[in-house]
Amino acid sequence: MGMISGKTIICGIIGDPIEHSMSPLMHNTAFKTLGLDYAYVPFKVKSLELRKAIEGIRGMNLRGVNVTIPHKVAVMPLLDRIDPLAEKIGAINTIVNDDGILTGYNTDAAGFLQTLHERGIELAEKRVLLLGAGGAARAIGNILAAEKVKLIVLNRRQELSWAEDLACRLVQSYGADVEVGELTNENLKNAITNVDILVNATSLGMSPDNEQTPVPADLFQANITIFDIIYNPLPTRLLQEAKAAGVRTIDGLEMLVQQGAVSFEKWTGIKAPVDVMRKSVESLLLQDEK
Ligand code: NAP
Repeated sequence: MGMISGKTIICGIIGDPIEHSMSPLMHNTAFKTLGLDYAYVPFKVKSLELRKAIEGIRGMNLRGVNVTIPHKVAVMPLLDRIDPLAEKIGAINTIVNDDGILTGYNTDAAGFLQTLHERGIELAEKRVLLLGAGGAARAIGNILAAEKVKLIVLNRRQELSWAEDLACRLVQSYGADVEVGELTNENLKNAITNVDILVNATSLGMSPDNEQTPVPADLFQANITIFDIIYNPLPTRLLQEAKAAGVRTIDGLEMLVQQGAVSFEKWTGIKAPVDVMRKSVESLLLQDEK
């Protein structure tokens, strides 16, 4: 980011907590690299203040914001337009402000899909085990169902039927082939032998709970790919154990960068400098590891 002036275009991120977000570093590095007169600012916004914060985007003419926990769903009725994919997912993570008209997008979905493309993984005919049924799992579930994979969703909480609700939406929207169950070792053991890819979209193993893992190491299958969307720590315990067992792994860094790149392009209309964005986040996360 260069010197801020009266012409600087402001983007940002709203969430709570927000202190540990990687997005300010990633986007400001990208703006600086391309010489764009933009700045990206973190805004800590409590749930009770969400409506005022959204009004503030219009009132202060911000170009747009990313939206993170806990506002990804609650913010939707406050916007003027929702992109059709984000509508199906039921969550947004990016707002674009076009002269006071606010449109919500979900770029987590595109970030997930782009990561698989980058790794040369085709989804056609694949069977996927998705752990979790929260915001990120919903975005990923929609991509997987749209690509017609056979899907198993396991989630911890059963009482709110999050996984069943997700499955119903996927069946309605895509005619998905989807089974759901509780995230137990027994269900994991049965499901893991029948899938090609396992995606961890729970927050189990995320910093500061680095010692936790959703999948006991003795359940790994040699021919499976394990994609853990968590990006802090890098790698998670799940991926460390998978690598040690000779299993192919994908970490959450690329998805973070790719979802950020899509947001960047929506605000600026310019192709994002993905390599620079990746390096900026990598350097911070690897520093954290030391
Ligand atoms: P969320 O909406 O709060 O959902 C959290 C999910 O994790 C739920 O399914 C929850 O299950 C499960 N979970 C939490 N604690 C658990 C535990 N102790 N045991 C088993 N399951 C547990 O969060 P989210 O937005 O989906 O994010 C999930 C993770 O993905 C976070 O670590 C986030 O940083 C990461 N993420 C990464 C990217 C990326 O670009 N790489 C993008 C988005 C999110 P219950 O329903 O049982 O609570």
